[in-house]
Amino acid sequence: MHTSSPTIPADVAAHVLWHYGHEGGYQPGGFTEQLLTTIGMADPANLDRLAAGFPDYVAAVAAIQYDPNGVEHLQRLVVAIRCIRCGDTDGPFVGAPKQPLCEPCYEKGTQQ
Ligand SMILES: [Zn+2]
Repeated sequence: MHTSSPTIPADVAAHVLWHYGHEGGYQPGGFTEQLLTTIGMADPANLDRLAAGFPDYVAAVAAIQYDPNGVEHLQRLVVAIRCIRCGDTDGPFVGAPKQPLCEPCYEKGTQQ
């Protein structure tokens, strides 16, 4: 069904974890919630069409539905990005993945 596996960003992993009731996620916006419901219900033909527009979300849902280690995998992706100064997991991040700083911390840093 999927010939390539796109990189799953931390926020996408977090949204999918939340949608399926797993730890480590957080609630997406209304559109994304509907999108995840739609992806979860899609048959293979429609899933391919959704993957054309939302490859990362489709990959993350596939991981959680079909990969026995999918939840763990997504949780690792979420934890991987955390602000090194305040520990905030809210993106966007500057300097990720090596030295991730959330934008407020990054701006503070450049002012000093
Ligand atoms: Zn920060």
